[in-house]
Amino acid sequence: MHDVDPKLLEKWDKEYFWHPFTQMKVYREEDNLIFERGEGVYLWDIYGNKYIDAISSLWCNVHGHNHPRLNNALVRQLCKVAHTTTLGSSNVPAILLAKKLVEITPPCLTKVFYSEDGAEAVEIALKMAYHYWRNKGQNRKVFITLSEAYHGDTVGAVSVGGIDLFHGTYKDLLFETIKLPSPYLYCRENFGSLTPECTAKLLSLLEEVLKSRNDIVALVLEAGIQAAAGMLPFPKGFLKGARELTKRYDVLLIVDEVATGFGRTGTLFYCEQEGVCPDFMCLGKGITGGYLPLAATLTTDEVFNAFLGEFGEAKHFYHGHTYTGNNLACAVSLENIKIFEDEKTLEKLQPKIEYLTQRLKEFWELKHVGDVRQLGFMAGIELVKDKQTGEPFPYGERTGFRVARKCRERGVFLRPLGDVMVLMMPLVIQKEEMDKVIDTLKWAIQELERGRV
Ligand SMILES: *Cc1c(COP(=O)(O)O)cnc(C)c1O
Repeated sequence: MHDVDPKLLEKWDKEYFWHPFTQMKVYREEDNLIFERGEGVYLWDIYGNKYIDAISSLWCNVHGHNHPRLNNALVRQLCKVAHTTTLGSSNVPAILLAKKLVEITPPCLTKVFYSEDGAEAVEIALKMAYHYWRNKGQNRKVFITLSEAYHGDTVGAVSVGGIDLFHGTYKDLLFETIKLPSPYLYCRENFGSLTPECTAKLLSLLEEVLKSRNDIVALVLEAGIQAAAGMLPFPKGFLKGARELTKRYDVLLIVDEVATGFGRTGTLFYCEQEGVCPDFMCLGKGITGGYLPLAATLTTDEVFNAFLGEFGEAKHFYHGHTYTGNNLACAVSLENIKIFEDEKTLEKLQPKIEYLTQRLKEFWELKHVGDVRQLGFMAGIELVKDKQTGEPFPYGERTGFRVARKCRERGVFLRPLGDVMVLMMPLVIQKEEMDKVIDTLKWAIQELERGRV
């Protein structure tokens, strides 16, 4: 148990700790969850209350909390050494993990560059792509991105982001991009749904841009779904088509699998579902099963080779972080991947995805549900004020937040994206636990109808 009085912890939390993506004025007026321990899909707060972690601790937990094999892998490595630098030297788990990542990702990806967070994995891909063209003697500097994109919060990642609420403030700091529409929103508005015609139209918009300019570094895309924008899936074939076009027009493709990687969409990586091999794949979140900060940018021999030269040519990639390739994180990540193999995590996930699809249908009947979206084991339920017109609730009312808070009363921990209720359950969750999550969320949305939220 904790050594400090819970009341004091609450007080100090509000006094000293500035939380991410949090309006601290409001936070300090409320009582917030302070977690103390976890096991499997469950978390316990400092008062001993138990919750199902229905968002996988912000989309990263895979095999559950406090997993004996992950714990052991961590302790085994800890007893050898916690960290040694990889700037010009190496370490055992980082080597083994790099080999493993190359084996499990699409075949054209052969090299691994480590960092600590998803945003850094993207940042590295952006810098490498830009630098690649310079090393090839071309001065290109424009990225193509999508509206509603989210790639993390560092300045480069924000430059290729497209969520005005998060990114608008910084616009004077950001580099130039060309923004194409968000596929889901574009299709919904112009075609009613994600039709093949819409895919074709989106690809023709992309082709127009690729045709009209010769200074484009790369196209940057999330894999199959714009998750942070509120779980907005791409139409099938969009990613594949984008790969074909970027090849044809000799532009690099950066695919951000930070949210979708490690099983979240039903395959280990979404790229597999469309038979795509990008020039860069960014990994984060689930890479350590939700244990430690680790991210990776994978790329091709073609990109890697463009950085080779004599030392004096100074063609190498001048980028690195103190903890790049951290021994502990890499050791846990290796074990995380072994568990996928040993426990057949993805095979066992398939019926759960189908079950989720079935149960999500029930939400369409609810008065305040305007849309229900799913890709694999990722789902978003959009709350609206008026179902007929799609009119949203006013931003300041924090409807999604209040519904999530209602779920807390029944032991389900959720964090929505605005008024989109997100379900991102750990892959190991059992059917009965899924029922508990889904029943609770449904009840909370009905409580909203009844004016009790
Ligand atoms: C979460 C996320 C990121 C950023 O990862 P961090 O580890 O939070 O920096 C980047 N891209 C996508 C698609 C994400 O979901």
